[in-house]
Amino acid sequence: MKSIYSIKKIDLEKYFENIGEKKFRATQVFEWLYRKNVSSFDEMSNLSKEVISKLKEDFYFNELKLLVRQEDELVKKYLFELSDNNKIESVLMEHDYGLSICISSQIGCNMGCRFCESGRLKKVRNLTADEMLLQVLTVEKDVKERISHIVIMGIGEPFDNYDNFMDFIRIVNDPYGPAIGARHITVSTSGIVPKIYDFMNEDIGVNLAISLHAPNNRVRSDIMKVNNAYTIEEIMKAVKEYIKKTNRRVTFEYILLENINDSDECAKELSNLLKGINCYVNLIPYNETNNISLKRTKSSQILRFYDILKKNRINVTIRKEFGRKVSAACGQLRAIKEGEK
Ligand code: SAH
Ligand code: SF4
Repeated sequence: MKSIYSIKKIDLEKYFENIGEKKFRATQVFEWLYRKNVSSFDEMSNLSKEVISKLKEDFYFNELKLLVRQEDELVKKYLFELSDNNKIESVLMEHDYGLSICISSQIGCNMGCRFCESGRLKKVRNLTADEMLLQVLTVEKDVKERISHIVIMGIGEPFDNYDNFMDFIRIVNDPYGPAIGARHITVSTSGIVPKIYDFMNEDIGVNLAISLHAPNNRVRSDIMKVNNAYTIEEIMKAVKEYIKKTNRRVTFEYILLENINDSDECAKELSNLLKGINCYVNLIPYNETNNISLKRTKSSQILRFYDILKKNRINVTIRKEFGRKVSAACGQLRAIKEGEK
């Protein structure tokens, strides 16, 4: 049995053809699932009894159980329980351009970045495509409003769960599915280089963000284990190729950590690294957590860092902070809930 939310339309079309039905049945099912939001096959009234009973044999309706919802002014943070009792988080943010959700892609993460709660809690397993999709659908149902933007920046490394992640993207982007535009979706990776190459060949306009967090290998390897596998040079080569191939701008995320990667020297080095590349830098004030001793850079130094990049004509923004009160950084709510393991 497969979760009905984990199947792409093209595969559902093949399924119907295999059972001697017309492939447009797949469109009908998608409309029931993602337009009319039904939660049983019996409600799909334009399908015959035979088709419905066949669907029931092969598919089931998965769901996420809402455990905790924390609210701050413009942000809601959700903790969900999966059918195997594992827990995941999603964060909903209200922007002037609409609602955006930050979803998780794995239970925990194996990349082991020093500053990150998700990395502290090791990967238990990958999320399936439907568990990613259900974060979007369940939160939409909760707020009774359409979500317009998705960022895959919650717990986990999406490119370490590439196939499920791509299935999720194909479903959520399907015009008969939730139909969230590719340009309204952003995936963030810690820099798994071979997957950056795979991703540029997908022919889908999803935005790419790279968690760079350092201007050189020495600093990056100190805070990101993944840099021992894929160096900055390899990342930059892949990014340049990505830009050439897709003609799209890349975002570099850069968390500012006091006395680690926030010096004027680092800002200059970063400017040199990114000079001439069609990108922009998102400076992220670090969200401190009880379990990790790293400190956030003081506001005055964040501004200096910003100014140095600006002066060197790098496109740069400082990330607007959401939900410090509701433990919105990656993995924090789950860490609290799991009893500080
Ligand atoms: N694994 C992917 C996506 C999830 S992490 C990646 O690393 O890109 C999403 C972003 O949140 C990353 O840029 C990560 O570095 C950042 N992040 C993790 N912990 C954080 C914290 N405590 N404060 C601020 N940003 C954090
Ligand atoms: Fe994993 Fe991203 Fe956290 Fe690194 S920052 S441990 S890659 S979730």
